[in-house]
Amino acid sequence: MTTSVPLTTGIPSWSGEEGVRRAHDLFLQAYAGPPDGVWAAPGRVNLIGEHLDYNGGPCLPIALPHRTYVALRRRADRTVRLASDDADPTRWEGTLDDIRPGGDIPSWVGYAAGPAWALAQQDATLGFAAALGGFDAAVVSCVPWGAGLSSSAAIECATALALDETYGLGLGDDATGRATLAAACVRAENEVVGAPTGGMDQAAALATREGHALLLDTLDGSVEQVPFDLGRVGLALLVIDTRAEHALVDGQYAARRAACEAVAAREGVPTLRELADPPAVLARLTDPVERRRVRHVVTEIDRVGEFVALLRADRYDALGPVLDASHASLRDDYEVSCPELDVAVETARAAGALGARMTGGGFGGSAIALAPTGRVEAIAAAVTDAYARRGWHAPRFLVALASAAGGRVDGRTDGAQR
Ligand code: ADP
Ligand code: MG
Repeated sequence: MTTSVPLTTGIPSWSGEEGVRRAHDLFLQAYAGPPDGVWAAPGRVNLIGEHLDYNGGPCLPIALPHRTYVALRRRADRTVRLASDDADPTRWEGTLDDIRPGGDIPSWVGYAAGPAWALAQQDATLGFAAALGGFDAAVVSCVPWGAGLSSSAAIECATALALDETYGLGLGDDATGRATLAAACVRAENEVVGAPTGGMDQAAALATREGHALLLDTLDGSVEQVPFDLGRVGLALLVIDTRAEHALVDGQYAARRAACEAVAAREGVPTLRELADPPAVLARLTDPVERRRVRHVVTEIDRVGEFVALLRADRYDALGPVLDASHASLRDDYEVSCPELDVAVETARAAGALGARMTGGGFGGSAIALAPTGRVEAIAAAVTDAYARRGWHAPRFLVALASAAGGRVDGRTDGAQR
């Protein structure tokens, strides 16, 4: 059972019971009669391995205790009804046919119901599309939106798990099936919502294990569980949501991606991960910007290896400098940091963190700081102060405990499988 580290200024995570109760209550308020069940999936934070997913590299997310809960009931027709306590508009009603790429639906509906479309596309290979019909769903969440903590994959994966069980697809029961669900959720996000995203978020929501980080190799999709138990060694991972928003982020992402792809293409490999001799390629690159971008990718791949080796050797004390080096590389070579992230990271270190870095795509979003548990409150206070002095939005915080992947959470497995 995951226990929370108290953080007086933190974004609260609900207990499973609270999430179930809230989802249940919203369902009863929105529709007549009870749901078939309640399913949940977590947000995530990436420990290291940033901007590597489109370069075929590894990443190392943990699932957060913060989850999105979906109460769902299958229907005998093709109607889809959705309710969220936190969306605009809060209610939506349509049919399965409305949920598709280019469909005229609010974007949150694409996240919440897109997996139904994506799962139906798998019929040729998996033979269950005919089985998928409509559903009524109520969504509640304590995963903050837009903080880079993947509220999007949390909602997609919770819906996918709910549909899987209520429609008896049988994918949620083992790792292979969950990989299929994750792929459907990626497809929903890419094609129904139209957001470019790799597979990290969905893998974190569906394949993580409590007390472990998930080493995901995006080159072949393979995963490994790496023990990550900070509490045992008196440490904690503080997530700092900068609440900073910067324009041009999409263009910057596309530009980074294009630079990496151009070098890979010139070198005759599909991704930078597959460079046969990275130092030789770096030495050959004459364009300084290109060289910096590739250097980030190459050194970040090495840092993931270093970080994982330290975890496996139980060397938690030595993780800090690897986080710091990752931040420097993202700031100086990849140039995706911003003043809010830099100040969060520097202030956290000055207030006692062993190491800190930005996490996620950059230009805002969140940073992480690894710190002795007893320093967490002081670090949060110092970052709050530093932001106030600059007249920035107050940052938000949470303590990230490596939590479990999504699944059914209302404790009843009878009655839902038909
Ligand atoms: P992130 O994944 O970093 O939180 P994204 O922009 O990828 O940010 O996804 C956020 C979007 O996911 C929201 O704008 C909304 O459309 C959808 N979403 C997340 N949680 C909920 C929720 N509880 N109810 C409705 N929509 C949600
Ligand atoms: Mg997202």
